[in-house]
Amino acid sequence: MGDGEKVVIIGSGCAGLTAAIYAARSSLSPFVVDGVQPGGQLTTTNDVENFPGFPSGITGFELTNNMRLQAERFGAKFCDDSVKDVDFSDAIKKVVCENGTYFSRSVIIATGASPKLLGVKGEKEFFGGRGVSVCATCDGAFCRGKNAVVVGGGDTACEEALFLTKFCPMVHIVHRRDTLRASQVMRERVFGNEKIVPVWNSVVDEIFGEEKVSGVNVRNVADGSSRVISCGGVFLAIGHTPNTKQFTKYLDIDGNGYIKRRTGSFVETDVPGVFVAGDCADSVYRQAITSAGTGAMAAIAAERYFSTLEG
Ligand SMILES: Cc1cc2nc3c(=O)[nH]c(=O)nc-3n(C[C@H](O)[C@H](O)[C@H](O)COP(=O)(O)OP(=O)(O)OC[C@H]3O[C@@H](n4cnc5c(N)ncnc54)[C@H](O)[C@@H]3O)c2cc1C
Repeated sequence: MGDGEKVVIIGSGCAGLTAAIYAARSSLSPFVVDGVQPGGQLTTTNDVENFPGFPSGITGFELTNNMRLQAERFGAKFCDDSVKDVDFSDAIKKVVCENGTYFSRSVIIATGASPKLLGVKGEKEFFGGRGVSVCATCDGAFCRGKNAVVVGGGDTACEEALFLTKFCPMVHIVHRRDTLRASQVMRERVFGNEKIVPVWNSVVDEIFGEEKVSGVNVRNVADGSSRVISCGGVFLAIGHTPNTKQFTKYLDIDGNGYIKRRTGSFVETDVPGVFVAGDCADSVYRQAITSAGTGAMAAIAAERYFSTLEG
């Protein structure tokens, strides 16, 4: 990092990369710490069909690589490192990485959230384009005309199941308990939809198929019996883990690990000069476009922050 960088951006997914484009074009000379997954979650999927501007779709790698090239074109610098600690107690913020420590007046946190996985056979093999998904909005259309399995019992699982009924003749919700823990209104919608079949007291033990998913082995935890459910897609809705543990000392974090924003702001935290973008602060939308949107907002807010400092 040189002397001219005004903003350190932590994370290089859609949020961090978009923030880098905007910050670079505002002459903030952003310095981006990549983290262990340059390009972020989207690099784990093949086809992105809902990012505006690509009528034939685009791969996650190509989309995020294009964003990176765009940011570099305007002067953003990147470093292959990960943040292990921060100190936001002074006007000059300290960002401590594995291989060095960086100082800046402003920080944009865009560290994303990692989807929780089941850890069962077949899950990794079929993840990202081959039938195992963590996002029905993103991948539901790929399951058109086939049955789907949703794993989970909360509001997200219900939303995913309801969404999938637009494409799938039958949607099984596999849940380890005998009742959904989703809100009343979601439960009513699910139980009122004849395409959704709850599979109670059950866990997925294995996901199988050839080129793509063709079914799951499900075990009933109450009586130990097993059965096969044929399906073309398995949608995991068992939660996300926001990558925010480095920030708990200085920022307000909610019970699920998401960074809280200052009341009335999309991207400001309670610490002046520290902004947040993307999935690390968003438990609701979790999309590439919404992450990119808040990345843009965070960079604009950082630019305004500097304007106020410089009077
Ligand atoms: C398989 C899959 C398919 C998807 N498909 C779609 C789709 O088709 N359409 C869609 O809109 N959305 C899709 N999504 C969701 C989308 O990928 C996310 O909403 C989006 O990537 C979030 O962007 P982000 O920048 O907030 O976080 P992420 O993409 O999670 O990026 C986080 C970044 O932070 C970095 N990082 C983490 N910790 C640290 C640290 N300590 N120090 C430095 N850096 C750190 C990581 O290396 C990474 O670069 C999909 C998600 C998955 C998992």
